Amino acid sequence: MAIQSQNPATGDIVKAFTPHTDDQVDGIISKSYAAFKILRLWSFEKRALHMRKAAQIFRNEADILGGIATLEMGKTLKSAIAEVNKSALGADYYADMAATHLADDIVETNASKAYRAYQPLGPVLAVMPWNYPIWQVVRFAAPALMAGNTGLLKHASNVPQCALYIEDVFKRAGFPDGAFQTLLIGGSKVERVLRDDRVRAATLTGSEPAGASVASICGQEIKPTVLELGGSDAFIIMPSADIEKAVAVGTIARTQNNGQSCIAAKRFFIHADIYDDVKARMKVAFEAIKLGDPMEAETDMGPLVNADSLEEVSTQVENAIADGAVRVTGGLKVEGQGYFFTPGILENIPETSNAYHEEIFGPVALLYKIGNLEEAIEIANASPFGLGSSIWTTDEVEQLVAIRDLEAGATFVNSMTSSDPRLPFGGVKKSGYGRELAAEGIRAFCNIKSVSIA
Ligand code: NAP
Repeated sequence: MAIQSQNPATGDIVKAFTPHTDDQVDGIISKSYAAFKILRLWSFEKRALHMRKAAQIFRNEADILGGIATLEMGKTLKSAIAEVNKSALGADYYADMAATHLADDIVETNASKAYRAYQPLGPVLAVMPWNYPIWQVVRFAAPALMAGNTGLLKHASNVPQCALYIEDVFKRAGFPDGAFQTLLIGGSKVERVLRDDRVRAATLTGSEPAGASVASICGQEIKPTVLELGGSDAFIIMPSADIEKAVAVGTIARTQNNGQSCIAAKRFFIHADIYDDVKARMKVAFEAIKLGDPMEAETDMGPLVNADSLEEVSTQVENAIADGAVRVTGGLKVEGQGYFFTPGILENIPETSNAYHEEIFGPVALLYKIGNLEEAIEIANASPFGLGSSIWTTDEVEQLVAIRDLEAGATFVNSMTSSDPRLPFGGVKKSGYGRELAAEGIRAFCNIKSVSIA
């Protein structure tokens, strides 16, 4: 894949980059390893000082960096700016909390003193996706650097300007030279980096095939990995729910980020008693979404990321309809320049259709009429994925059953699934393993050393 910025709103190639050569990559890894030797000895206070500076730079430059993200991947400018500000919050969170999460943990044994010590591993490779091009990176970088690891970023090939900007932010924040660097390489060059002994671990956010490839190479190399992969999240609406709110939030949960979010609500399980009402309201809400230039303040939704993605999402919808699904609204390519696709709703999806099980990485809601909660959970769990989930009900028993039985890394009750630096984030089944964020995220790439002093 060429490393270049292509504006999804116009199709224009804005800037092309020459990939790093193998020699350049080796030089970058050497620098990362040298920076690790310095950063591992910094105190939490010193790391936090520089992490807060990075947070401040993100805040001060949110308009600039947000504009680059919009240009490269098509999300609305207002959402891109919000993403940069959220990244600043994530950086501040780890500046504040790293010392607590990684404090020596005293254990009573027969020794005079025993404890768990959390020590950094070294350079960690992060293979990242384009859909949240800033937040996905910072939620790796902030805990990595605060733990004393160094970061090597292999960002998606279509967001090189975001990648280089983030590298520059950590440099300007005063981290050691080489502490956080971008590798301008394609997916095929990742194996060489993973097999380098100086690279101690890897994290990948992206598709199942990419995750499987990185994990199998790391398996051979005996290196730890965290995988954050796809999702086909359930959004269950029961009769006791606040329907107006559930529809408003469900519409955002399916269509935000131009419908390209791993934790988007993708399958809506709606109780038969309220199905027609919810469907009618969702149709109105989806048809009110203003599709257009993502740089404009009044635009709700920009284009899909590229021509391939437009083709893939459109084919998924048309195949589902050929299988017997019914189009409630939208789900159509927009003729003209750019990769625009109207937000769509499908219902009556046959169990035999691929759409019943696969992830649609675009703004298409799938509606399922269910007779009871058990039925919703059974179909929800029939998915190979298990990332997030959301249930709308005021019935406490139903809430507890959903929390207990939904096979997912998160269950949100009467709100949409979202990432929060204070809560662990990750999935089960084909959605991946390991956790980002919170204490789990910073401990993921630590050597948990047992210390015993006689
Ligand atoms: P993708 O093709 O897997 O790309 C993600 C990253 O992996 C990119 O940097 C890509 O590089 C790289 N890559 C691709 N194939 C690789 C390989 N064989 N070896 C090493 N690296 C490889 O994913 P995508 O289609 O762009 O992103 C959408 C997917 O990501 C969806 O399934 C979505 O649900 C998932 N996602 C999950 C989370 C989560 O937190 N669980 C968050 C966001 C997105 P190139 O760009 O150079 O190909």
